[in-house]
Amino acid sequence: MRIRQIILRRLEMALRDPFVTSYGVELNKHVIIVEVHTTNGAVGYAECVAGVAPFYTEETAITAWHMLSDFFVPAVLKYAAHHDIDADAELDAIRRILSPFRGNPMAKAALEMAVCDAYCCETNLPLAQWLGGIRQEIAVGISIGLQPDERTLLQKIDGYLQQGFARIKVKIGPGHDIEVVRAIRCAFGDIPLMVDANSAYTLDDVNHLRRFDDFGLTMMEQPLAVDDIVHHARLQHLIHTPICLDESIRSAEDARKAIDLGACRVINIKLGRVGGFGEAKAIHDVCLEHGIPVWCGGMLETGIGRLHNIQLTALPGFVYPGDTAPSARYFEEDLIHPPVEFVRPGYLAVEPIAGVGSRVSPSRLDKWQVAVRTFEVERA
Ligand code: MG
Repeated sequence: MRIRQIILRRLEMALRDPFVTSYGVELNKHVIIVEVHTTNGAVGYAECVAGVAPFYTEETAITAWHMLSDFFVPAVLKYAAHHDIDADAELDAIRRILSPFRGNPMAKAALEMAVCDAYCCETNLPLAQWLGGIRQEIAVGISIGLQPDERTLLQKIDGYLQQGFARIKVKIGPGHDIEVVRAIRCAFGDIPLMVDANSAYTLDDVNHLRRFDDFGLTMMEQPLAVDDIVHHARLQHLIHTPICLDESIRSAEDARKAIDLGACRVINIKLGRVGGFGEAKAIHDVCLEHGIPVWCGGMLETGIGRLHNIQLTALPGFVYPGDTAPSARYFEEDLIHPPVEFVRPGYLAVEPIAGVGSRVSPSRLDKWQVAVRTFEVERA
């Protein structure tokens, strides 16, 4: 495969409902779509999941645009001027080229994944098969943002359970945690339930966090600080609820250390947070080796990212339902057609797609586009 051209598009898409987390409110989805064109006419797509503000990680859509335009794309163009990518193993070259640049995994992920997507398109290889996936269908849970009151939350949960979602995840924080979980258990009994704290607590809260042990939660996600694997290890030894690490795990090396310390019993893998398919697969493999189940978290992706998440979730270690809900939940008009929909309640099909390009709607990319940059490979 020879890369001919790389296009960066910045989009602003209207969300159906504002998405509220302990970090703030998002009204529009800001997204960068990376397109990789090959000399044979194959096109690969991927999206950058960095948001408007640096709350989930330090990256934003604007910093990612800068990193991609000024560093990452030029570095890949330089490589592509002299090299073809003719085998699976050579895709690792993209990770290698980007690794001297520090941080910025979401920007890196978008570029690496677009190249991988183009490679699968060019070689007519289903993405999930290329990744080593084994599932034809995946179970899906739902992540519910902070709600104005308990009644609204319970109504939403009721609706999602009726639609068939296989697991409910709610956001918690000091002042809206134990009572929220108790109310859900009272209303819905023994449903698969987990909570996400997005680092809202410290180790001083251990006695409080221990109270969650009474509720049989599937897991508690990221209770403590992002950079604090050590205290997560202490906490995990003091509570029964399995801790799931999200923000703390950015690489297979992080996963190895966290598992070694006993800091978690589950890991949430997000392609953007970890830098793309290569690192996500490496984290998955470390976890599988150590018997740590993983699942695929969501970042309010458009259909493009959603399809990639589904393909990743076909890997054997993805034991728990992921956050990849059908697209219609978030966007009036998604970037793909047909949209991602349940094949039966709570389940999505892992379609044998050779890259996501066959599903992307160019007119919808144009509709939401606010900026574009095109980069050509100058062949030596
Ligand atoms: Mg999380």
